[in-house]
Amino acid sequence: MKSLATRVSTIKPSVTLAIDAKAKELRSQGVDIVGFGAGEPDFDTPRNIKEAAIRALNAGFTKYTPASGTLELKKAVCEKMRRDNGLDYKPSQVLISCGAKHALYHVAQVLYGPGDEVIIPAPYWVSYPDQVLLQDAVPVIVETREDENFRLTGELLRKSITKKTKALILNSPSNPTGCGYTLEDLKELAEVIVEHDIYVISDEIYEKMVYGGFEFHSIAELDEEVRKRTIIINGVSKSHAMTGWRIGWAVGPEELIKPMADIQSQSTSNPNSIAQKAAEEALNGPQDTVETMVREFDKRRQYIVDRLNAIEGVNCLSPAGAFYVFPRMSAFYGRKYAGQTIRSSVDLCDYFLKEAKVAAVPGSAFGADPYIRLSYATSMKIIEKGLDRIQEALNKLF
Ligand SMILES: *Cc1c(COP(=O)(O)O)cnc(C)c1O
Repeated sequence: MKSLATRVSTIKPSVTLAIDAKAKELRSQGVDIVGFGAGEPDFDTPRNIKEAAIRALNAGFTKYTPASGTLELKKAVCEKMRRDNGLDYKPSQVLISCGAKHALYHVAQVLYGPGDEVIIPAPYWVSYPDQVLLQDAVPVIVETREDENFRLTGELLRKSITKKTKALILNSPSNPTGCGYTLEDLKELAEVIVEHDIYVISDEIYEKMVYGGFEFHSIAELDEEVRKRTIIINGVSKSHAMTGWRIGWAVGPEELIKPMADIQSQSTSNPNSIAQKAAEEALNGPQDTVETMVREFDKRRQYIVDRLNAIEGVNCLSPAGAFYVFPRMSAFYGRKYAGQTIRSSVDLCDYFLKEAKVAAVPGSAFGADPYIRLSYATSMKIIEKGLDRIQEALNKLF
């Protein structure tokens, strides 16, 4: 038999999805698992959005749409960018894809070639390095510091750039840390980006989930020079509790959007027609459900941060956005339970799953082993129960 393509050996499945699957499997066996692994809102898709989908279905909107997405949805994205970000884009600068992840994948395909370097600040979202590797390009992981809010500074960025650097992948607010970049922080980066003429891929999927007065800004807002080099990634998965519908987009220079659309036309064709209609309603319709969801997340955020910091040895920053906390747990590494030594975030999460019946994601999946990620996209009651269990499990270590 002929061997498979070499890229098969570079790719690994998404760890976060794997943990979630493991928790779901245990649950289906009747084990009472508290899941902190989820990367999706626990809220239902708002009713007005579902109704738009039902209308589309009944109206027979069930055929191919243009491969790059419907003009109406592209216009809705442009309108959203004007309204929320003060940015003017044309529909020809928008590609509608099957989720933000898919849009990011297209960016990788048109931008990264063999040997190209792509700067990824750690802790990073799990798919960034793998999407770079799939193009035979090189993910350059730049470690950030907890005492700098896990923020890539201008200085760190400058030091990481070489002649081969193609792009920086920026995610604010961040999955997994919840940290966000202020306008000042972005200015620092934009200066270096323009000076060295690299692209920036700005993953803004958590734009709407911000707390405690944090103000979201897109790096593209700064000036035309940086905007020319920015590809914005966003979607409705997180903001409108629509992960299963698979609608996301890329917005940026036409030179990039056009070949991305061509690749999409040769791979998936258009994103689901009904879901595009639903996404249109998500963007154009009332936004009060988003606000309700964010208020609820904010309550949970404050509770979970307080509870974690009350445990001796745990240190947890207060997130500015998204729906994750990223507590430092390394004080427990080297401790033992039943003859087993816990040496890493993977060991600790295994221990939590087996002993505490709690599913959490090891920080190593995000390039930061001292930490674990807990999602608070789950009810307050479950969060309380889960934290009781974590606290008890940590007390058993010595
Ligand atoms: C969830 C997530 C995405 C992917 O969103 P989809 O639109 O569902 O593909 C992209 N980036 C980050 C950082 C995410 O957490």
